[in-house]
Amino acid sequence: MPARRLRTRAYRRVSLRLPGGRTVVRYEERRKGQARCRRCGLPLPGQSSRRSLPRSSRKANRPFSDLCSRCSREALRSLLR
Ligand SMILES: [Zn+2]
Repeated sequence: MPARRLRTRAYRRVSLRLPGGRTVVRYEERRKGQARCRRCGLPLPGQSSRRSLPRSSRKANRPFSDLCSRCSREALRSLLR
């Protein structure tokens, strides 16, 4: 069983094959980058990943805050339909 802090997806899992043929899972920190739309992959404007800010200031506080404006519009429309 991996350590408790590794039982989430906070770390990236990388499976490696060792010279002895054994396969092990390494846990790596995720690559940081600009936040992107979950649906189309466009970079989201105005999102800060700085830790010093409160959580509510890091992300837009509305439904579909992980989508760009165009995709969230479509998502809302499909909800209403
Ligand atoms: Zn999008």
